[in-house]
Amino acid sequence: MKGLTLGIKLYATDLTACIRCANPVHLQHSWPTTDGGRICLGCVTEQVEAYRLAAVADRQLPF
Ligand SMILES: [Zn+2]
Repeated sequence: MKGLTLGIKLYATDLTACIRCANPVHLQHSWPTTDGGRICLGCVTEQVEAYRLAAVADRQLPF
């Protein structure tokens, strides 16, 4: 019983929520942001694209 409780706890702490789309995401599959949150792969891809567009437009991102 002890082992089972520990296993569930470890699994739960391994999950977090994406701060952009609010989807639950595994820690291993998310990236930390400058404000202490984490974002999922989909949002990273979106952000990279936004960064590239901003770089072209020579603008600063708040991200
Ligand atoms: Zn996301």
